[in-house]
Amino acid sequence: MTALRIQFLGGAGTVTGSKTLVEYNSKRILIDCGLFQGLKELRLQNWSEFPVDPKTIDALILTHAHLDHCGYIPVLVKNGFSGPIHCTKPTRELTEIILKDSAKIQVEDAERANRKSYSSHEKAKPLYKPEDVELAMTQFVSHDLSEWVLINNDMKFQFLNSGHILGSAFVDLKVADKKILFSGDIGRSNPMLLYPAKHINETDYLIMESTYGDRVHTCENVKNELLRIIYETTERNGILMIPSFAVERAQELIYLLYLLKEEGRLPEIPIYLDSPMGINSTGVYDHYPTWQNLPKTHFNEMYDDIHFIDNYETSRAVVNDKKPKIVLAGSGMLEGGRILHYLNNHIENPDNTILFCGFQAAGTRGRAILHGEQEIKFFGDYKKVKCHVESITSMSAHGDQQEMLDWMSKFKKAPKKVFLNHGEPHQTDTFRVKIKSTLKWEVVIPQLYESFHLDDE
Ligand SMILES: [Zn+2]
Repeated sequence: MTALRIQFLGGAGTVTGSKTLVEYNSKRILIDCGLFQGLKELRLQNWSEFPVDPKTIDALILTHAHLDHCGYIPVLVKNGFSGPIHCTKPTRELTEIILKDSAKIQVEDAERANRKSYSSHEKAKPLYKPEDVELAMTQFVSHDLSEWVLINNDMKFQFLNSGHILGSAFVDLKVADKKILFSGDIGRSNPMLLYPAKHINETDYLIMESTYGDRVHTCENVKNELLRIIYETTERNGILMIPSFAVERAQELIYLLYLLKEEGRLPEIPIYLDSPMGINSTGVYDHYPTWQNLPKTHFNEMYDDIHFIDNYETSRAVVNDKKPKIVLAGSGMLEGGRILHYLNNHIENPDNTILFCGFQAAGTRGRAILHGEQEIKFFGDYKKVKCHVESITSMSAHGDQQEMLDWMSKFKKAPKKVFLNHGEPHQTDTFRVKIKSTLKWEVVIPQLYESFHLDDE
């Protein structure tokens, strides 16, 4: 069998669960191994049998450390996958942090479910545990950008910067005489901390994400908007609470605060990062200066004035303190983490502000507050939302429709076919129409589990 085939095992018709299988000459490799997240029907797919026997997969190539791209790896390993997991060096470090946190949450969720269900004939189990993550980490092999990695005689690949989060990369795969490029997630055209995505001249097949395939980010001045919100809150002697994702968003916010301080515009106010995962991730950023497009002094100084809270006692003291401050804490959508303690204590005070700087998914507390819900439940009690609610919408790590089209328009030759994944159906379809009308490229929207032969083109 020498047919070249790809199959979409996740990230098709949804932004989560990214997994694409490539088969050639009896060899199988998987690009990304993400967790399905969000709606229950999606999450349940994490529990169904994997469509191919993990033992038969020769290698896994990981584009970046986000859970929707790496979160299923421990399950794959637990079920017999024993091949190498290729990624960049920062991705390896960030993935370990993210998977350990994911395992911890799953264990806690299972324990909570078992406490709640008195008639439990079937005990809730975590999808994986910390020891499963430990085992998976032993299979990781990290590489530099632009380093060709041989998988076997027919297959090799290199990672190329995709500008999305620290360590994120395209996978430029060569199978026999065919080239397939996997975008993973693609960053903004001018990322705040990172270098922009590498321009690609040509590929035979492009597997392209479409998260913002139907949208263009608003063009607000993020730094000025942040400063306005800080001023208004400090004038009221209030606390500014910023729910923040631990990777990239927390570091971007800290960088903006640093720039404002350097410009002499930031009022005197203590800034806290109260997030163990945020602190650990910041440590990884600190390890990789050459990945970041920052002046050396900025890189060296940007974290100097931040109070890192790494223990529970300090966190509790800062939570109980009513003095003005800026707090960055997880989780980004208020589904857990220390931000809940801040909100539980300070959401009913109209002097305070909650500022959203990231996407808030349906069904989360974050979305409810953003949509004007008057009361929110924390730790079993309802609290009235009396504080100011603000949002900065343009801080996204994903390129928007125009930014993705700009990147694609730099190709010197049209790919034979583009497969759009990693998007909700309306985003993907809008993007398909746009690509067809502007670039005249052939675009396919794969369904979940759909496979394609790439030989006869
Ligand atoms: Zn991502």
